[in-house]
Amino acid sequence: MSGVTAELAAILERAKERPKNLSAKELATLVAAADGLSREAVRVAAREVKRRHCGNLVSIRGIVELGNICSKDCCYCGIRKSNSSLQRYRLKVGDVVRMARTNRDLGYGSIVLQGGEIESEENTRFIEECLEGIAELDLGVTLSLGEQTEDVYRRWKEAGASRYLLRIETSNPALYARLHPPGHSWERRRECLAALGRCGYQVGTGVMCALPGQTAADLADDIVFYGEIDADMIGMGPYIPHPDTPLAAQAPPLSDAERLELGLNMIAATRLYLHDVNIAATTALQALADDGRERGILAGANVVMPNVTDVGYRARYQLYAGKPCLNENASLCRGCLERRIESIGEKINWRARGDSPHYHDRLRRLNLPNSTIDTPRK
Ligand code: SAH
Repeated sequence: MSGVTAELAAILERAKERPKNLSAKELATLVAAADGLSREAVRVAAREVKRRHCGNLVSIRGIVELGNICSKDCCYCGIRKSNSSLQRYRLKVGDVVRMARTNRDLGYGSIVLQGGEIESEENTRFIEECLEGIAELDLGVTLSLGEQTEDVYRRWKEAGASRYLLRIETSNPALYARLHPPGHSWERRRECLAALGRCGYQVGTGVMCALPGQTAADLADDIVFYGEIDADMIGMGPYIPHPDTPLAAQAPPLSDAERLELGLNMIAATRLYLHDVNIAATTALQALADDGRERGILAGANVVMPNVTDVGYRARYQLYAGKPCLNENASLCRGCLERRIESIGEKINWRARGDSPHYHDRLRRLNLPNSTIDTPRK
């Protein structure tokens, strides 16, 4: 490989051979790649591994933002409980089912229901009713509703959810403690991820990068953490300050452009370490650059999550400043997304659930029954 150091070239060759073939120190080297040539070499290698496991396909999941009512007070998040400048909402079951039908009609084979974190029987029932209404649509269903008891996770699984996203936010408990007020427990989050695995979900986790006080070694440890918990899906993105949050008072450590590059380095390093997991090119990348998601795919991601929530609600679900597509309805987004993905030589995996290849491998390894069927519909 011309232009990169012999050391980096050797790391990339070894990474491509098989999963988990790198030390944390070597991962930190990939994450910290700072010059254009090194970054490009890391992304080209990651793309090669992505193509080996996922071909040139990109899987789509529409996101429905169920509501912005949240019991948590995360110091970086725009929908934190203490943000009083926000009008709170929660969708009605019928609206959620209608948005899910739109998602299906647009040809998206999976859907994500995301929202603030509420632990109550009333909310648990609300989610069950949404899942029951969606069941007949034959979609892969992902939930992203924060920390819950194992019993609640099991009920939602039985009502039809098959995947769950719960970012650990950072694998460093001391950094986690600096980003969250008292009462927010890293250990509980870790335990929730274990509970999700026991319930048989495809388990997704992830972190924010470019957080104040975070180092390349922390980010390398995050990737090792994904491997340790045997995660099936990874969603990561750069931290973006939200003006109505306490963390915004601390300047982010890097410029927008550098935070985007770090997010892309994280995707590439994660692909090179884990090989067969689903990795999302997240909306936070798109918030930092118009073509951020395409660049995420070119760095090794294979999943994109367009917003399918009615536009009228979108401004009230801003986790960070600069959320894109606030006024673009789902069918407009579809055309735009298709053009963008084709422009980089990739294809949308229409009407497929797009399960994580790692999940099927994990079921085989652990001798568990296969509870999902991934066949494209006509
Ligand atoms: N409450 C749910 C899901 C909603 S938040 C949960 O806890 O899982 C979804 C993700 O948005 C969070 O996990 C966090 O990583 C990300 N996020 C929140 N605030 C952010 C910010 N300011 N910049 C970038 N990402 C942010």
